[in-house]
Amino acid sequence: MNKVMNIEVDLHTHTVASGHAYCTISENALAASKRGLKLLGMTDHGPSMPGAPTLYHFGNLSALPQELHGVRILGGVEANITSREGELDIPLRYLAKLEVVLVGLHVYCYPGGTVEQNTSAYLKAMKNPYTDMMVHPGRPEFELDLERVAHASAELGIPVEINNSSLRADKKGAWENCRRFARFMAKYGGPVILGSDAHFSDRVGEFGFALELVTEAAIREEQVLNTSVSKVLDYLRLRRQQRTP
Ligand SMILES: [Zn+2]
Ligand SMILES: [Zn+2]
Repeated sequence: MNKVMNIEVDLHTHTVASGHAYCTISENALAASKRGLKLLGMTDHGPSMPGAPTLYHFGNLSALPQELHGVRILGGVEANITSREGELDIPLRYLAKLEVVLVGLHVYCYPGGTVEQNTSAYLKAMKNPYTDMMVHPGRPEFELDLERVAHASAELGIPVEINNSSLRADKKGAWENCRRFARFMAKYGGPVILGSDAHFSDRVGEFGFALELVTEAAIREEQVLNTSVSKVLDYLRLRRQQRTP
C-alpha cells in the first residue's frame, strides 16, 4: 500500500486509554512492526475529551518501554484546543515531558466559531512552543481557512497532518477539504505529516488515502516527515531546543 514513498513512522495512534479506541499499545506496536514501521507515537486524546485519560496518564508515560516488538515508541498526546484563544487542555509541566505533542480541534472540547475564529484558534495553538504538529485541518466539523494554515506551516516550520482516518471514514466534505489542503501544502512547501489516527491496531500505519492526495497534489517527498525516523526525531529534538528561553 505504501509504495508511493517509503513510510517508517506513524505518530498519530490511539489506545484503549482514549476511551473510544480498542487496542493496547502492545497490539498497536505489533501491528506497526508487521507493517514495517520503525517509530510509533502513542497519542491518546487530551483530558478534556469525554472518556479520555486523566493527567496521571500523561504524567506516567515514562513507564512505557522505549521499544516494543522492535518499534521505537514515543509517548505523547493529541491535545485539544479548548478555546478560541488556542489554549490546550494539558498544563505546561505535562506538555514539557511529552515526546510528541499533536494538537487539533475536536467536538465536545472546542466551542466552535466562524471560519475566522476557528482559524485564529488553530494558528494560535500552532504558535505554542509546546506544539509539535497540528492534526486534521481538513475535518469538516470546524471549518478553517486552509490556505492560511498551509502558509503558516511553511512560515513556522510546523508540520500539519493529512489524516488518513478522516478520508477513510469519508466524512462529509473531508475529501474535498483535504484535497484542497494538500494542494496548498504543495504550493507553500511546509512540512507534512501523515497520520493514520488509528483507533484499532489494524489501522496503524494505514496511509493509502492520504498518500493518494499527496501524489495527486504533487507534495514533494522531502516535505513528508514520515519517510524517515531520523527526520522525525531530528525535528522533535530541534523543537525542544527551541523552547529553552
Ligand atoms: Zn479519537
Ligand atoms: Zn483527532
